[in-house]
Amino acid sequence: MATQRVLDFLATRRPEGPCLVVDLDVVRDNFRAFEKALPDSKIYYAVKANPAPEILRLLAAMGSSFDTASVAEVEMALDAGATADRISFGNTIKKERDIARAYALGIRLYAVDSVEEVEKVSRAAPGARVFCRVLTDGEGAEWPLSRKFGCVPAMAVDVLRHARKLGLDAYGVSFHVGSQQTDLTAWDRALADAKRVFATLAEEGIVLKMVNMGGGFPTRYLKDVPAAQAYGQAIFGSLRKHFGNDIPETIIEPGRGMVGNAGVIKSEVVLISKKADNDNVRWVYLDIGKFGGLAETMDEAIRYPIVTARDEDEKALCVLAGPTCDSADVMYEKAPYPLPLSLTIGDEVLIEGTGAYTTTYSAVAFNGFEPLRSYVI
Ligand SMILES: *Cc1c(COP(=O)(O)O)cnc(C)c1O
Repeated sequence: MATQRVLDFLATRRPEGPCLVVDLDVVRDNFRAFEKALPDSKIYYAVKANPAPEILRLLAAMGSSFDTASVAEVEMALDAGATADRISFGNTIKKERDIARAYALGIRLYAVDSVEEVEKVSRAAPGARVFCRVLTDGEGAEWPLSRKFGCVPAMAVDVLRHARKLGLDAYGVSFHVGSQQTDLTAWDRALADAKRVFATLAEEGIVLKMVNMGGGFPTRYLKDVPAAQAYGQAIFGSLRKHFGNDIPETIIEPGRGMVGNAGVIKSEVVLISKKADNDNVRWVYLDIGKFGGLAETMDEAIRYPIVTARDEDEKALCVLAGPTCDSADVMYEKAPYPLPLSLTIGDEVLIEGTGAYTTTYSAVAFNGFEPLRSYVI
């Protein structure tokens, strides 16, 4: 839902063109909710979700740590006031020279998921801490992360053993249960795998210290999602179940759950038309689409709440599309979207829950459209 602060900003500033407005008060509340839900876990905000400097500064001041995926993101976190010991290089796919640059900036915590990457880290970041990412099935996630990251738990044992052999600090295990994860038990399966890696290595005298439980915490789109507190309880229960009285240090890396509901995109209806006189589905074209920041509508995965000033009126299903000349720039067609029959060209619409994964996905100049503007208030 758009907060009153966001609505007031839009009403008084009347920014031209599509734009994202992020309410920092909501980010602050989200950070506190995560702290409260998992008081023993350190929070590493996933910078890629929304790297706006105002957001990073707020979170740095509140004591957050940061999960980064590139040297540029490391620098953004440092510029926002985080010290190097509060930053992880969480991408398992890094150039060796980028590892070296991060190391020179003081970064000492790196993700790996292969022996090959461990070799790079051992050369470019000698003695650093590494954690190995294990695959998860991604079930229950609306934006699953596929098999691109992580390795099977048995291989994680080899990877961490190799890290130790090369003089690195074999520090822990990480996983990501898939983004927009609404199944509270998803962490349980991954924690069971993590525990097996801990136990196997312990038999060889390698004592891991940390489990990085990743992101996946959802934002409310059209359906209700469990609150942070419910995630906290489920995750803590699983930690107890699998690790007993020997719960390791834990990290969470919320991205979407930290900023998703803090942002609203203001957009304008450019055209409403039909393909034939007897069509009963209207085509509604907005001034923002897949290339303007709504990339997560790919495969119609994320379904954003769309609010108009005419929502009291009768609604009918529409195909919703963006303004560019790429025919892939259609957001919802397989599952058309209900919008008011009275909707008119020139109307403004609010696309809610768009604080995460929008500005950075926006193309630089496709068809000459400028990248999504963002205001952080
Ligand atoms: C993207 C990412 C996150 C954030 O995921 P959300 O589902 O947005 O919370 C966390 N950790 C890693 C390693 C990531 O790549």
